[in-house]
Amino acid sequence: METKYIFVTGGVVSSLGKGIISASVAKLLQARGYNVTIQKFDPYINVDPGTLNPYEHGECYVTVDGHEADLDLGHYERFLNVQTTRANNITTGRIYQNVINKERRGDYLGKTVQIIPHITDEIKRNVKLLGTKKQFDFVITEIGGTVGDIESLPYLESVRQLRWEMGKNCLCIHLTYVPYIAAAKELKSKPTQHSVKQLQEVGIQPDILVLRTEHEISADVRKKVALFCNVDPAAVVQSIDVPSIYEVPLNMQKQHLDEIVLKKMGMPVGPTPEMKPWKSFLERMKNATETVHIGLVGKYVELPDAYKSINESLFQAATYNDRKLDLHLIHSEKVNDSNVAEWLSGMDGVIIAPGFGQRGIEGKFAALKYTREHDIPTFGICLGMQCMVIEFARNVLGYSDANSTEMEVNVKHNVIDLMESQKSISNMGGTMRLGEYDCILQEDSIPAKAYGTTHIKERHRHRFEFNNEYRDEFEKAGMKCVGENPDTHLVEVVEIPSLKWFVGVQYHPEYGSTVIKPNPLFVDFIKAAIQK
Ligand code: GLN
Repeated sequence: METKYIFVTGGVVSSLGKGIISASVAKLLQARGYNVTIQKFDPYINVDPGTLNPYEHGECYVTVDGHEADLDLGHYERFLNVQTTRANNITTGRIYQNVINKERRGDYLGKTVQIIPHITDEIKRNVKLLGTKKQFDFVITEIGGTVGDIESLPYLESVRQLRWEMGKNCLCIHLTYVPYIAAAKELKSKPTQHSVKQLQEVGIQPDILVLRTEHEISADVRKKVALFCNVDPAAVVQSIDVPSIYEVPLNMQKQHLDEIVLKKMGMPVGPTPEMKPWKSFLERMKNATETVHIGLVGKYVELPDAYKSINESLFQAATYNDRKLDLHLIHSEKVNDSNVAEWLSGMDGVIIAPGFGQRGIEGKFAALKYTREHDIPTFGICLGMQCMVIEFARNVLGYSDANSTEMEVNVKHNVIDLMESQKSISNMGGTMRLGEYDCILQEDSIPAKAYGTTHIKERHRHRFEFNNEYRDEFEKAGMKCVGENPDTHLVEVVEIPSLKWFVGVQYHPEYGSTVIKPNPLFVDFIKAAIQK
């Protein structure tokens, strides 16, 4: 079958959840036996989001092939249980970089290089890249930003051209917002009409409208939207607020969104898939009555999106342990030795978050000293693992100055140090140790038991590492290096076996955790937290 392309655009306001709608459509098509992938096109000029502060754009996600990506790729993987790659996330910066490189090479043979056709051709080439591999039946492309943004224009122009070229193999879904005016007790469709008009002005007629709403949209309002926007009434679907994003696919299925897509693309519809594993996950989520309390100590806690994949991994792991997750976001800058007991009181387990730089680091040490001394299940991730090592060096090995050279370049006891391979690097973008690497686990370690194997692959994003010169000293004092890279011997996992569950990982297990296949280490951590 020829690859089909579905575009998802958004209008009226941002943050409507285009990523979740894209992932839901993909999930429903996947449940029908199709191979589906989703890609995100972001209109900003950064070449990738790796250099963005989490305050700007939430978490930076990492793909197996080491691409620093938009956090929506995390949703795609969690919903589909299919890995994404560098090709699934393109930014304006990357498009321009490619075009400028071609221009410098002389590829344009003396032509004036312009937005149309050169930038739009490069966008179109990237849109079709995953489709040309013939491994996908559907490629869903989410266009970041909101219709009407100056930055989005080249993307919309490319979509217009592609629709023209591809005919029935191409379809547009537009997501808008229907506000509720409480004083008038009315849902308002006007912003949707204006947003569709804006799309039409750039030459795109949406095939399907998804209306995001906080209240049930009546058949009358849907009919009105359909009439004003040249869309079939049946193709006006509502996306009402639900308690969990994982309910959205079923919500869309009830309104036959996947059937509408298939019919519009001239494809057979067939029986409605049962979605059994998905539904059983949701059932476990709803049936859980007891709560597990997890404290996440980090510096971006005002912004829950900064730890998106960790939150979702914990939620999945809690669900598979038949528990409700109560995640307590604890600001590491506020924690110190004298108030830590208060901050961590009632926590069944504690996560020490990843991060960069000095800010909030002392609070992480205070939290770790407390959980280590009180044997509270503790999970350190990336910087969190490095903090475990530093805290142990300071308070158990007696090196009160111990630190990472990230925080203090000339520190005497550099128990965390810059990787050799990082020493000559000066560019910040895309230069960390990124993506999936092998790790060999010691047989009797907690992670080996949790994963059920001693050979794992997990994703990384860091520049600093455990300093192997100190390895013997740590091991003698009770902190074991139970996971290492087989080629470089970089320490990937530390554990204090005398404690119930005290594990630090240099990698990011949260990136690979999905609804159908939760990460085993998170599941085991929650299990330990419950047993506490
Ligand atoms: N800042 C640390 C490093 O670069 C940890 C990075 C992280 O937590 N992702 O090694």
